[in-house]
Amino acid sequence: MIDYSMYDYVIVGCGITGSVIAERLAVNNKKVLIVDRRNHIAGNIYDYIDENGILVQKYGPHIFHTNSETVMEYLSKFTKFIDYKLQCKVSMLGKITPSPFNFQTIDDYYDLKKAKKLKQELKKEYPNTERVSIIELLKSDNETIKEYANFLFDNDYSLYTAKQWGVSPSEIDVNVLKRVPILLNYDCDYFGDKYQCMPELGFTKMIQNMLNSRNIDIKLGYDILNDLKLDENMVILNNNEYKGKIIYTGPIDELFQYQNGELDYRSLYFEIKRLDEDEYQDGAVVAYPAAKGFTRITEYKKLPYQDIDGKTTIAIEYPLKYMINSKSEPYYPISNPTNNKKYLEYQNNLCKFPNLIVCGRLGNYKYYNMDQAVQNALEVSKKNNIEF
Ligand SMILES: Cc1cc2nc3c(=O)[nH]c(=O)nc-3n(C[C@H](O)[C@H](O)[C@H](O)COP(=O)(O)OP(=O)(O)OC[C@H]3O[C@@H](n4cnc5c(N)ncnc54)[C@H](O)[C@@H]3O)c2cc1C
Repeated sequence: MIDYSMYDYVIVGCGITGSVIAERLAVNNKKVLIVDRRNHIAGNIYDYIDENGILVQKYGPHIFHTNSETVMEYLSKFTKFIDYKLQCKVSMLGKITPSPFNFQTIDDYYDLKKAKKLKQELKKEYPNTERVSIIELLKSDNETIKEYANFLFDNDYSLYTAKQWGVSPSEIDVNVLKRVPILLNYDCDYFGDKYQCMPELGFTKMIQNMLNSRNIDIKLGYDILNDLKLDENMVILNNNEYKGKIIYTGPIDELFQYQNGELDYRSLYFEIKRLDEDEYQDGAVVAYPAAKGFTRITEYKKLPYQDIDGKTTIAIEYPLKYMINSKSEPYYPISNPTNNKKYLEYQNNLCKFPNLIVCGRLGNYKYYNMDQAVQNALEVSKKNNIEF
């Protein structure tokens, strides 16, 4: 049985959110216990060296990118970063073209004369920008541009998005389509952020360095909900009221035993294959919009580049419905009026428990990139008078 009374803070979740807060607390001389029900640290950014000697990310391809000096400076205390610009590709109609689509895509699918005309018209129609959304192009009155937009929509956006979210093309939320822009140049910059890099020895090592403090104890493979219960207005741990603070970064609906209903998520299944080949595909991450069942394939020896002969490891990504009590993981929150209402109800319940802080991507039911998760964790630390 864990003796929680030894700690000033109990943190649930050893992902980047919980780890940043644990680190801040430890530096401020607080005694912290961090618990995760998985048997490893780092949450969804966990990576490991596989049998091929390749650094593999267990929960899908993760690339660090940010415009925040604060986040960059903070994380650089725990790892050296190496510059890395993700070059994504799309396999469409038997050819491989850049993602986001750019002028190379036009050259790949149009003859010389038509390509020249289309590029000129795009520059004329959108003179002050280098990035436009597919929605803007679909709405264009210019026939040449509209035809290009329909070509991209039919062969990529609609197929990929329908598979990713498990809906028919007619049900696709247009806001989702806006996420991957179309570039009006030959640039191949997927994220477009000031800092784009990878931790030299991987994300797990970075988190390990963060948690390396005599003020932090780590307990893995343990579900806190075995011990934690929410009574009328108090947090119970091992049948006693807990007076220290709890930082909970797990799913908020599960914490409240789904009393206001389940929050929906989209999940993914990664089929990992180790191959005796030098190279599998032209790019670290390639999308396959027309493929049956799967959306993307990641080739890990290119993420970042790893010099290993004769072997490669790939992850094939299958989107699926998330179901509680199954092996699926809650990955992408599904924002719609029903889920948003349920989430607000859970949020409102929290005010009854002043020593319980809920945060992170699962606690806030919000998709965070890693830099946003770090930013959020630093803000939570500050709000709780943890110096930064
Ligand atoms: C497929 C995919 C690709 C992504 N790619 C990128 C990318 O390229 N760049 C980028 O910046 N971001 C990316 N992200 C986002 C990134 O994964 C998140 O920002 C980050 O993982 C959030 O960390 P977190 O600590 O909030 O959550 P998590 O990492 O999920 O940590 C929460 C932890 O809490 C634990 N937990 C939950 N409940 C309990 C309980 N009851 N008891 C004990 N432990 C519990 C869980 O086991 C988990 O380890 C991607 C996300 C996905 C899904």
